[in-house]
Amino acid sequence: MTARILVVDDALPNLKLLEARLTVEYFDVMTATNGPEALAICAAHACDVVLLDVMMPGMDGFDVCRRLKRNPSTAHIPVIMVTALDQPADRLKGLEAGADDFLTKPIDEMTLIARVRSLARLKMVLDELRARAATSVSLGMPDPLAQALAEKCIGGHILLVDDRVSSTDQIISAMRGKNIVDIEKDPQEALVKSLAGNYDLFIVSLGLADFDALRLCSQIRSLEPTRQLPILCLADLEDRPRVLRALDLGINDFLLRPIDANELMARVRTQMRRKRYADALRDNVQASIELAVVDPLTRVHNRRYFEIHLSALVAEAADRGKALALMILDIDHFKGVNDTYGHGAGDKVLKSFADRIRKVLRTSDLVCRLGGEEFVVVMPDTRLEIAAKVAERVRGEIQKNRFPIDDGCAIDVTVSIGLAERGSDSAPEELFRRADRALYRSKSDGRNRVSADAA
Ligand code: GH3
Ligand code: MG
Ligand code: MG
Repeated sequence: MTARILVVDDALPNLKLLEARLTVEYFDVMTATNGPEALAICAAHACDVVLLDVMMPGMDGFDVCRRLKRNPSTAHIPVIMVTALDQPADRLKGLEAGADDFLTKPIDEMTLIARVRSLARLKMVLDELRARAATSVSLGMPDPLAQALAEKCIGGHILLVDDRVSSTDQIISAMRGKNIVDIEKDPQEALVKSLAGNYDLFIVSLGLADFDALRLCSQIRSLEPTRQLPILCLADLEDRPRVLRALDLGINDFLLRPIDANELMARVRTQMRRKRYADALRDNVQASIELAVVDPLTRVHNRRYFEIHLSALVAEAADRGKALALMILDIDHFKGVNDTYGHGAGDKVLKSFADRIRKVLRTSDLVCRLGGEEFVVVMPDTRLEIAAKVAERVRGEIQKNRFPIDDGCAIDVTVSIGLAERGSDSAPEELFRRADRALYRSKSDGRNRVSADAA
């Protein structure tokens, strides 16, 4: 992994030490000796993790961290604060400035490397999503980062796996009024619950009496429904080697006992904010995928989707020796609707048209808008005789009731349909051509009718 780490420290010996240590681990290391320099580097370079000294003349580490986290172009970069301060209040101040972790000098190197590696890995997953979501933001969808930064990160649903009553009591009281916490003592049961429940965070005690909590963490990470679920581990000081293993397995954060309630809250908040950010990114990606294949007016699939999918459906039908029918529909005299009632009325008709044909089709039938007032329906596993009945049902449905346009006004609409069935060797283009020819016959025979390809 060639993550780029920025080390920020005003003391040159510290800087050199960390640089050497990280370079040995094959990280790409950059350095800065003060806050403004660090901010400039972060803004200009793609940097994956920042190791930030707290006490620096001028702008201190807390301030640098706050600025990084407030700036939308750097807010996603993980920050580890490094300091000689080790009071819970100092740690809290760092976490509240938005830091992802807080390491105390002298730095335990193993922990440092494990933490840097884990944060860099988590960031790369986010980067991948960010890159894909960037397109949807430029298409006018809400910016997930802005949403996540605005989040107060309360009202989350947490699953706590811990068998010590004193510990669970403490966590419950720390979360009271902020998050909902379910407690589960049995790790197997916890796994079942995590698959079923809609959790925002998993808190796992590494010191479970008769179960290896690392196994549970690894299972949560490897199962598809929980792969993205953040995991925060609770550990005793002497459990440090297992914490390193846990980081390696992909847990997101850990907290050493005795638990400081404020620090717990701060870490929980960070994890929830990240999860909401990642969820929002994923939703945006999903929405932009839809945008690419769904017709915005009628919400049915568009021509691009049809062309790709028809080939796949025809190939599948050929493989299995199954029938497949294609229906092309074209609204009659639609130009007249636009000319008489306006384009808006035309759009309304198109929308209801798509809704009404979907209503009389099976869910396995694929409806697409080819463009204008032309639609297609691909019917897997359907012979021509059956397809003709379905087409007649569609035609009847359109003719049956008038289409409302505006102010209580409604108009008659009819549709012409052409049908064809997949032949033994027919390519998708050929199937389409035959259905289109049948449609042409429906039009020339007087419209508002169904014609089937004779071949
Ligand atoms: P025919 O019975 O022969 O199919 O006649 P038609 O008028 O339906 O066919 P033609 O292809 O001549 O006209 C289609 C019209 O559809 C022309 C165009 O203005 C209109 N149209 C295409 N796309 C849209 C759209 O998105 N919204 C609206 N309102 N009208 C559209
Ligand atoms: Mg038409
Ligand atoms: Mg047309």
